[in-house]
Amino acid sequence: MDELDADAAVAERRDEADPLAEFADRFHVPDDGLYMDGNSLGPLSTDAERTLDRVVEEWREMGIEGWTEGEPPWFRYAERLGDRLAPLLGADGDEVVIANSTTVNVHNLVGTFLDRADGDAVVVDELDFPTDHYAVRAQLRQRGLDPEEKLVVVESRDGRTIAAEDVVAAMDERDDAGVVFLPSVLYRSGQLLDVERITAAAHERGLLAGFDLAHSVGVVPHDLSAHGVDFATWCSYKYLNAGPGAIAGLYVNERHFGETPALAGWWGHEKETQFEMNMTYTPADSAGAWQTGTVPMLSAAPLEGSLEVLHDAGIDAVREKSVELTEYLIELVDDELADYGYAVGTPRDPDRRGGHVALEHDEAERISAALRDRGVVVDYRPPNVVRTCPSPLYTSFRDVYDAAAHCRDVVASGEYETYDAEGEVS
Ligand SMILES: *Cc1c(COP(=O)(O)O)cnc(C)c1O
Repeated sequence: MDELDADAAVAERRDEADPLAEFADRFHVPDDGLYMDGNSLGPLSTDAERTLDRVVEEWREMGIEGWTEGEPPWFRYAERLGDRLAPLLGADGDEVVIANSTTVNVHNLVGTFLDRADGDAVVVDELDFPTDHYAVRAQLRQRGLDPEEKLVVVESRDGRTIAAEDVVAAMDERDDAGVVFLPSVLYRSGQLLDVERITAAAHERGLLAGFDLAHSVGVVPHDLSAHGVDFATWCSYKYLNAGPGAIAGLYVNERHFGETPALAGWWGHEKETQFEMNMTYTPADSAGAWQTGTVPMLSAAPLEGSLEVLHDAGIDAVREKSVELTEYLIELVDDELADYGYAVGTPRDPDRRGGHVALEHDEAERISAALRDRGVVVDYRPPNVVRTCPSPLYTSFRDVYDAAAHCRDVVASGEYETYDAEGEVS
């Protein structure tokens, strides 16, 4: 890798002044590479490994007694981790629980709130992560509704972002709209939507507002209760670093407690009477009601440790560094990579940006493959995005500098041309 025109010493000085610099020591970054993919799968921390090992040990030593004798007991583990997550959401502990996968939670929450809402159409946007549309469509079909008619898809003006006023216009145009369900951060461009404004506009029009926070929890602070958001869900394996397929999280505003979830199951039953084994369901008086089956302890345990890392760092400090890292990356793209065909596809206003940056390039797919082979782990997102995430807990300013230099080199040297469209060396 050749140096850029920019002075690498500037990056190194910023690292010396970085209050979060030492947190990188708590993570295992594969092959000491430049891991710019923490918004797809966060790396393992020693903390997450420790809490996972502890639960395995409890299972070995206690067997079924772990449900009551584990430290903490497994029976209320999902609620307990909900309490720990709550500060990241700006919610009360009772409003947050861990459960299921994000996709299952979308089914459960959108289903529940479709049943409660005054209208039966759901407002989404065309840049959503596909699973959200699959789940919403399925929930519409299960209610005998035609998704072609009842899924209201807000279009993007530029192919990258969604304008809040277009969301509001869609709510105004459709008097059958009952629920608006949007991401906090768009998975491709990294645009951060205005959760407060969209929620307020929804409520003024009698709609319920829900969000998929997969690309923001753990890197962008939230204030869900104060904004009156009705429901939300998110993954734990992205910025929360809880491991591949880790249990997801969900939030339900306390004014909805007592509802019966669309996907009711015994683990969401009132805890005190769960083991009376009644045939009728009494929902827990909390977001815990939206659990379904038994908490999967082995996919939940790493989250306990990874939350300790985040709480030690503090979400505000994490967000501050995240904004600085993405700002720095954008600056390097503008100054050094534009001549090589790269462009920034992410909003430049930090208040409208999540934790990653979309580097647009006509050869994004082959470039992504070439970068990975150099140990620069990025994601290709069709049609033209090299998605790059400098996650603040383990990425330095020098890492960002080096990643940008590799981006330039794989194009300048023509290295990417040795890959075919599928990313294989041809
Ligand atoms: C990653 C992601 C998901 C993934 O859902 P799973 O059920 O965990 O597979 C869903 N929605 C969004 C917006 C995502 O970014």
